[in-house]
Amino acid sequence: MAVQVTESSPAVTLGPAVALSCRECGQRFDLGPLFACQECFGPLEVAYDLPAGDPDGLRKRIESGPNNIWRYAPLLPVPEDVAGKPSLNPGLTKLVKADNLARELGVTGGLYVKDDSGNPTHSFKDRVVAIAVEAARAFGFTTLSCSSTGNLAGAVGAAAARAGFRSCVFIPHDLEAGKVVMAAVYGGELVGIEGTYDDVNRFCSELIGDPLGEGWGFVNVNLRPYYGEGSKTLAYEICEQLGWRLPDQIVIPVASGSQLTKIDKGLKELIALGLVEDRPYKIFGAQAEGCSPVSTAFKAGHDVVRPQKPDTIAKSLAIGNPADGPYVLDIARRTGGAVEDVDDEQIVAAIKLLARTEGIFAETAGGVTVGVTRKLIESGQLDPSLTTVVLNTGDGLKTLDAVAPTTGPTATIRPSLEAFRAAGLAG
Ligand SMILES: *Cc1c(COP(=O)(O)O)cnc(C)c1O
Repeated sequence: MAVQVTESSPAVTLGPAVALSCRECGQRFDLGPLFACQECFGPLEVAYDLPAGDPDGLRKRIESGPNNIWRYAPLLPVPEDVAGKPSLNPGLTKLVKADNLARELGVTGGLYVKDDSGNPTHSFKDRVVAIAVEAARAFGFTTLSCSSTGNLAGAVGAAAARAGFRSCVFIPHDLEAGKVVMAAVYGGELVGIEGTYDDVNRFCSELIGDPLGEGWGFVNVNLRPYYGEGSKTLAYEICEQLGWRLPDQIVIPVASGSQLTKIDKGLKELIALGLVEDRPYKIFGAQAEGCSPVSTAFKAGHDVVRPQKPDTIAKSLAIGNPADGPYVLDIARRTGGAVEDVDDEQIVAAIKLLARTEGIFAETAGGVTVGVTRKLIESGQLDPSLTTVVLNTGDGLKTLDAVAPTTGPTATIRPSLEAFRAAGLAG
């Protein structure tokens, strides 16, 4: 068990990280595999002593770093020599200037898609797992695990294979085939649980408290404070790729809400360090209507998020009881953003819109963010004259079933010019 921070130095060194601090009561604890405050049970996050005072020097240091998330190592809870360790080295994915999509949506202020399908296992989860792996190494864990809505299981399996850990991951039994294969192919153990993601998560929490789970690092449970920090790299990259500038508006998918809250944390750090000019930005959360506990609370003006039973094609976002839901509400309200949702039909239409306009094939989560962006513009909540970044967090090849029923060959013909002419496709 971790103990309260004393004046003596912590046992584990993870770069600029100095402690875990409670997001509710501020109590600090030594760095360790701890995720809930021992005083008030609030969630813990990593506290830092960040390299302030020389923004130009820090900017140059980052720019001359590796072409992956480790360029931001001075701002992450990882050892200084992290870039030399076996890792999938995710990050520095493309920020695509989406002019065609902008025209369709009527955005005039500049529209960008941050395309995280370009990560090693084709979702943003490689970022969070890479940080959790470094924490697992530091704490001496030998098995990596997680509860997953699909993408995380694949990211953990792959990272474990590369970094030399055993892995055993848990998913709901009814996931898309692409996600199941991705989770299994790296050779770790994969366990399907008969239940929803929330059942899987509850099971993992029990396992952590049991001798059966001893020596196991659950990236999104007992390593969650470190895991969460990986999402900050999205904020860093977006700003660096915009020329060290904050975007005005960002649309982010919400499952547990971790990604959204940590992107906000990353933006605030860049401001505090003087790496970007301090200007207002708005954060928008995007959910699927079939699993919309946070957008429902947002629209009702509630501070409390009431759990839902998910029923949506956006399975990667299907968390009915999101751990960071209240923080998402806070951030959306504080920044002047919103949380909105779209139904399954709108998700599919948005996947096709992004593919048709920009040549990016997004998974259902990307359909959610693009669909919500469209809806927020139509309702006047998102200002089309401002610089807007929309996240695509995963690859459409993993959720083929979402579009397969309404996508296919225009025609199937005999191999003859006559048949082709008859199909009416020439010219
Ligand atoms: C996990 C995931 C998210 C966001 O998850 P949070 O739990 O909110 O951090 C978004 N998109 C995809 C594709 C994911 O797999």
